[in-house]
Parts: sequence; C-alpha cells; structure tokens
Amino acid sequence: MQYFLAVIGGGPAGYTAAEKALKAGKAVVLFEKDTLGGTCLNVGCIPTKTLLYSAKQYYNAKHADKYGVTAQDVEFDYGKMVQRKQKVVRKLVAGIKQRLKSDLCTVVNAAAKVVSRTDEKVIIEAGGEQYEAANLLICTGSTNFVPPIPGVKDNPAVWDSTDALAATALPASMIIVGGGVIGMEFATLYHELGVPVTVVEAMPSILPNLDQDIVKILRDKYEKSGIRILTDTKVMSLDGGKVTAQTAEGEKLTLEAEHVLISVGRRANITGLEALTDMEMNRGIVVNDMMRTNLKNVYAAGDVTGKIMLAHVASRQAEVAVGHMLQQIPVQRIAYNAIPSVVYTNPEIASVGMLEKDLQDIPHEVRTLPMAFSGRFVAENEGETGLCKMIIDSKHKTVLGVHMIGNPCSEFVAAASFAVRMGYTVAEMEQVVFPHPTVSEILKEIL
Ligand code: NAD
Repeated sequence: MQYFLAVIGGGPAGYTAAEKALKAGKAVVLFEKDTLGGTCLNVGCIPTKTLLYSAKQYYNAKHADKYGVTAQDVEFDYGKMVQRKQKVVRKLVAGIKQRLKSDLCTVVNAAAKVVSRTDEKVIIEAGGEQYEAANLLICTGSTNFVPPIPGVKDNPAVWDSTDALAATALPASMIIVGGGVIGMEFATLYHELGVPVTVVEAMPSILPNLDQDIVKILRDKYEKSGIRILTDTKVMSLDGGKVTAQTAEGEKLTLEAEHVLISVGRRANITGLEALTDMEMNRGIVVNDMMRTNLKNVYAAGDVTGKIMLAHVASRQAEVAVGHMLQQIPVQRIAYNAIPSVVYTNPEIASVGMLEKDLQDIPHEVRTLPMAFSGRFVAENEGETGLCKMIIDSKHKTVLGVHMIGNPCSEFVAAASFAVRMGYTVAEMEQVVFPHPTVSEILKEIL
C-alpha cells in the first residue's frame, strides 16, 4: 500500500499534520519512537506548566494574607506534584491517541529511517518493516544542547530540563546555566518552592530576545525575592556541582549547588535522515514558505527546521505543509511577524510582533501603560507591577508589536496577535469591545 503521507515524529507538528491529512480522507503512517505528544506533551510545555501551577498554588497560599485570607502551616508535597504532572501528561497523550484513531491512520511505535526517495515515493523502514508514501513530513523535533564546557558531560550533578522534570525530589540548591525561557521557568519553579537558585547568563540580560523594559520588571522582582542572577557571565567549567564562571570584566567566580541545570538552547534532531543526502540543511532542515525542502515531496515542520522552537509554531507549520501537499487554494503561509510567545514566570510575560530594537528603520511610536490601569489586575495582583507596551507604525498607525508582563497576560496575548496578524490600525482596535473587568482591557486602555 502507498500512503499519501508519512510523518516522522508524533509531537505537535506530527500529530497536527496527520490529523489534517486524515480529515482530507488521505491515508497516513506516523512513526514515533517514544511517546505520542513529543517533547511538548511529555517533557516540555505541559509537564512544566503543570508543576509551575502547583508551585503557584503554594506561593499564593503562602501569600494569602495579602488578600485577607489566613493560611497557616502551608506545606507542599513535591512527590504529589510530580504524580499529578504524570497524570496530566497521561491524560493528554491518551487524547492524542484518540485523535489519531482512524482506519486511514497507521501509528508505528518505532524509530523510522528513510531508506530511499524519488519524486514519486519515499521508502521508510521502522520496526523491521518497510512503508511507502507519496509525501514525507519530517517532524523529528529537537533535543537539549550539551555545550562543550569542561565537566558537563557525564557529570551526575548536571541536569537538563528532561532530568529536572523526571526528578521526584527537589534539589537542595540549583545553579541554572542559561537565563533563556527554560532557565527562567525552572528558576520560577524552584524559587517558589524554596530552593536557592542562581542563574548564570552569558548575555548582558536574561531573556535577551524579549523587550528589555518588560524583562527588567521580572528581574527586579526576582532579585528582590532572592534569586541570584548573574548576567554577562560565562560558565567556564564544572566539577560536580561546583561551577567556575567568568564575568565580562574577567572576574572569576566559584559557585556551588547540588544540581546544575543546563538550558542553553536546543538542537534539531536529524538522525535517520542520512539517506536524504541532497536535502539542504543549516541550523536545521531548510524549508520554503510552504515548509517544503529542496526535495519535491519532502517537507519539514517544527523544531527540526531550527526556526522558532515553539509548539504553536510547529503545529501551524504542519498545517501549512499538509495544505501544500493537498494543493489547497488559497496557498497557506505562516505569518512569522505575528507569532505570540509566553514565558511562564510569575508574573507571566507575553509578547507578539516586533521589538523596539528591531525597528530602527521604521518610524514608530511606543506607548506604555502600567497594568494597574486595569481594575481587574489591581483586584487580583496585590503588590505586583505589570506593564503593557504597544508599538505602532507612525505612518499607517498599525499595531506592530505588543509586549506585556503581568498575570494572566498569556491568556489574552492572542487578541494582540490577531491585531498584528490582520494589520489592524489603532482606529480599528478602538472599535473592539473588551469585557469588563478583565486584564485584557489593557489592550484597549493603551490605544
Ligand atoms: P534559549 O535560547 O531561550 O536560551 C538559552 C540562553 O542561554 C540564552 O539566553 C543564551 O544567551 C544563554 N547561554 C548560552 N550559552 C551559555 C553559557 N555557556 N553560559 C551561560 N549562558 C549561556 O534556550 P532554552 O531556554 O534552552 O529553550 C530552548 C527552546 O525551547 C527555545 O527555543 C525556547 O523558546 C523553547 N521553549 C519555549 C518555552 C515557552 O514557550 N514558554 C518554554 C521552554 C522552552
């Protein structure tokens, strides 16, 4: 039998692609060597957010007096938090299995290897069997990057995010190497559960790819509450939990903790694709706007493309790829200028569109408004600071970017994405009615 589509990888890109092709009545074979759901569901977004929610419950209970509630002897059980995380993951993985249940869909639980390819068909081997498909979509994802720092490899004190999520007990203390998204989310988790945390970041700022006025609010709060943050500081070597680092001025620092979390980025997984010798690669698999590689019937989506490593980007890329295979009209593309991103710190950061620093050549106006302009924010965020920043094109008055800090901005950044994606002007945004009282009204107040 020849399948219409072979998908390698069952993460957000892979299962979204399979579902879309199945809905169009096409036969699909999907290969997953591990567990359906990929990094996001099993060892990424979902387990992290589940643990972070438990930590937030503990934090809120401890600080309940701010809201006139007395809670004494507040305690937590990390083992129970981990068990609940597992339960959430199991439930969602079962949901993916259910979504792929179809006479047209074969799920192969084995590592796939491309055997050969022509413009007419791709042959794939998995679990000792061969499968033939007209199109191939590579969604093999990424793995945590292990930097070539002496003492990192084979060091039992070193964790990556997968190790951290698997641990059933909290570390006594933690050094986090890399103050990016993973680093700051784990800093939040451990800090809220009382673990002493030090973050070491090589760049002049944590979360260097975000709006720096927003990041400063987070950093100020975290430093005040006891997280040690060292920026412009490079880790030179490790010995167990002992870390030697060097500041930009050349000062040597020695730090020590029970565990060291390495979170310095992720790299594309390309094992099993060796037979595709002519496929163009750089940081990942090179694709065009329709997610097609330089090989006619081979597409790639998600982290393996090395573009923006976010689950929601992966699933949209998969939709675009399958839409192209199905020759759907109009041709779909991804609006890379309107990809929202969220950092699940406490408070959350949510952002979409262009950053001020990238707009030097475009005349623009920057509006900022403290979140305290929202009544709901004030009611629910005692003593917290938040900020909304909107970047507007001076000529056309369109919204180019929105950057926010303050809970629960992750829940309404989609409204800002809509504005950026559709190229709404300030006058058009003004016509939108926001429910009152919600924190989302900040997007109206700022206009
Ligand atoms: P990242 O690129 O976000 O951050 C890595 C950080 O490590 C950077 O700030 C970098 O300057 C720093 N760094 C690199 N080498 C260093 C060194 N030797 N010493 C000190 N600092 C060093 O990568 P990440 O945090 O590992 O996340 C990986 C990917 O997963 C990212 O693409 C991220 O967007 C994604 N992710 C997203 C979410 C989310 O959307 N909430 C959550 C987790 C991960």
